[in-house]
Amino acid sequence: MTTKQQYDQYKTTMQKIADVKYSNALLQWDQETYMPTGAANVRARQLATLSEIAHEMSTTANLGDLLTDLLSKDDLSAEEKFNVKQSHEDYFKQKKYTSVFVRELSEATSAAFNNWVKARNEDDFSLFENDLNKLIELKLQEADLLGYQNHPYNALLNEYDKGATVAQNDLLFEALKKGLIPIVEKIKAQPQVNDDFLKQHFPKDQQWQLGIEVLKIMGYDFTTGRQDIAAHPFTINFGSTDVRVTTRIDENDFSNMLFSCIHEGGHALYEQGLLDENYGLPMGEYSSLVVHESQSRLWENHMGKSLEFWQHYYLELVKRFPKQLQQVDVNSFYKGINKVIPSLIRTEADEVTYHFHVMIRYGIEKLLLTKQIKAKDIPAIWNELYKNLLGVIVPSNANGCLQDVHWSHGSFGYFSTYSMGTMMAAQLFQSFENQYESNNEYNYENKIRKILFWLRENVHIFGKAKNTNELCISISGENLNVRYLLDYLTKKYLAHP
Ligand SMILES: [Zn+2]
Repeated sequence: MTTKQQYDQYKTTMQKIADVKYSNALLQWDQETYMPTGAANVRARQLATLSEIAHEMSTTANLGDLLTDLLSKDDLSAEEKFNVKQSHEDYFKQKKYTSVFVRELSEATSAAFNNWVKARNEDDFSLFENDLNKLIELKLQEADLLGYQNHPYNALLNEYDKGATVAQNDLLFEALKKGLIPIVEKIKAQPQVNDDFLKQHFPKDQQWQLGIEVLKIMGYDFTTGRQDIAAHPFTINFGSTDVRVTTRIDENDFSNMLFSCIHEGGHALYEQGLLDENYGLPMGEYSSLVVHESQSRLWENHMGKSLEFWQHYYLELVKRFPKQLQQVDVNSFYKGINKVIPSLIRTEADEVTYHFHVMIRYGIEKLLLTKQIKAKDIPAIWNELYKNLLGVIVPSNANGCLQDVHWSHGSFGYFSTYSMGTMMAAQLFQSFENQYESNNEYNYENKIRKILFWLRENVHIFGKAKNTNELCISISGENLNVRYLLDYLTKKYLAHP
């Protein structure tokens, strides 16, 4: 067989695997949106069967031989080479997992999830404690299985952000904390912002329509996507030509739907921007969760929560909600949606104090994975850290250390991507602004079109071919750096009190 024939064979195999994985994802989407509750059991088995089929297809000896063969060829293009190298790496990583381990982890996470729900509902951490210890044990086994340098946590961080290390994360978080503390202090000294107008009654249908309009303004393509309602908003894709977003609507909290819609829209634009010709191949997949979050945060914070955006669209918004917003001017609206106040729940936090929530979880994960603490120690440490870093008294474990689902899924190493992604968003946005301002006459609608085009050209089309730091370097000339986020927050919150 010629190299070309071999490459085609590889590509066909990868695309078939993607067909199975995306069919599985479509069933998941249905489960979270429209599935009748009675179908839960049969759906669980359908999902498990498709996962198993995808895993079998990804680990056949044939595919392994083909990849090893292709890896030694020198008549592949740079992109083809990258795809082969990445698939080869993924293949041998998959092979490291024994079926005994996969089953044990899957059973442990199912049990952990159920007990986490129970523990949270009954506000009884002890119901979740043993599951958590078991998961930590398995995650340490997984780290050994995958291999790592210096710190077992590095193996787990790499699952979400290839190339990330505890050493780099520690430095970034330390600098972030040092920079944020004085910003929060100065904001506290300013007069309190009034955001009561956001808590009026905003009818569901009108919010829904607004969400659709906002997605269109961002450039989300409804011919390759759709929006539906879900309890916990998420974005999911089945290739780049079917990227779906979900939202939830709280009639008494206007910013809830609006910003979650923009956030998910940012995630979706990234997936729609991956090239269809790379379907099923590493170049057709997102780079890392940090890069993914950078896209959602860029749209949410730097566009949707900016004064510039609302100077352009506020009149339109007041026309939609005259009763609620007629008396509120654009500056008060802008201040209201950006109110900073330390709080208990991560997902409801403002963009300044948000990162303390992340740091607390990151710190606790490190202690767990180095066996310095056990699960039973979490509530006390959690509450202490919330008091020290946020000045918040935690009234219950349900609203404290049991608030997030991630640990019950066994997702250790995930949380830090929220902060790193937000840092990257600031870094990308500053680079865009530098280029945009020097090249264009001002027109905001033009600017929105330009930023999407710029993100497509500089981030989306590369898929997995560039990791977080490689993208940061190619765009801004340096690794991920916290300074951009701190500069942005200082300018936004301290320049005009
Ligand atoms: Zn996100």
